[in-house]
Amino acid sequence: MRKNIVAGNWKMNTTVPEGVNLAKEVNDAVAAAKGLKCDVVIGVPFTHLTAVKAVIDINKVGLAAENCANHVKGAYTGEVSAPMVASTGANYVILGHSERREYFNETNEMLKEKVDLALENGLKVIFCCGESLELREAGNYADFIKAEISESLFHLTAEQMADIVIAYEPIWAIGTGKTATSDQAQEVHTMIRALIAEKYGDKVADDMTILYGGSCKPSNAPELFAKPDIDGGLIGGASLKAADFMGIVTAF
Ligand code: PEP
Repeated sequence: MRKNIVAGNWKMNTTVPEGVNLAKEVNDAVAAAKGLKCDVVIGVPFTHLTAVKAVIDINKVGLAAENCANHVKGAYTGEVSAPMVASTGANYVILGHSERREYFNETNEMLKEKVDLALENGLKVIFCCGESLELREAGNYADFIKAEISESLFHLTAEQMADIVIAYEPIWAIGTGKTATSDQAQEVHTMIRALIAEKYGDKVADDMTILYGGSCKPSNAPELFAKPDIDGGLIGGASLKAADFMGIVTAF
């Protein structure tokens, strides 16, 4: 049985004290909520991981880094490795966000290395994929998304795939206020699940959690999450206010 997950991606927002307060608010709201139908994860800047870990119940609120290096250690000034992330007590890492791909030139090959290091260090991976507006309008987004997934993930075993969550995030919908319609998202999620089934079989595909991300908010989450292949969301802007984030968490 696959899990529903709502994961926040704070990006480069909040100071450590602000982040600690936000994490406490989310943790308290999750602890108080009855009968939640999804797991909750917050993705926070590296600087916040240890302090946030200290104020949340990791069994109720998962903790993600927003990236990790494609090297284990050494002379890579400014980088943060998967073992370092794991040593904070975080249990997830977001990899392949379109902002990392675009501004920091992350390639499918580099992401393959990052995925391996994350899994080797016991981190679950929220692996992002998604097309630009140009590709969407040209109509060849499916091949692009298939390449992102197959080139970075398809060397993994079926067992390792159990620690992967896929987040479909059309770039044209991220932070733009322009959400993909629930039908557009469902179409891509179905395609992704079929791709996984083709490679790993139906069981792995059925168990795979596939999140939608891109201007998801409390008002549109219920319609998106009602689709059979949308198993939750990766939430940017709306994860920065506990009330908005909880409005999405309770949308199932
Ligand atoms: C994101 O960056 O992962 C995201 C989905 O952002 P937003 O919700 O702000 O569109």
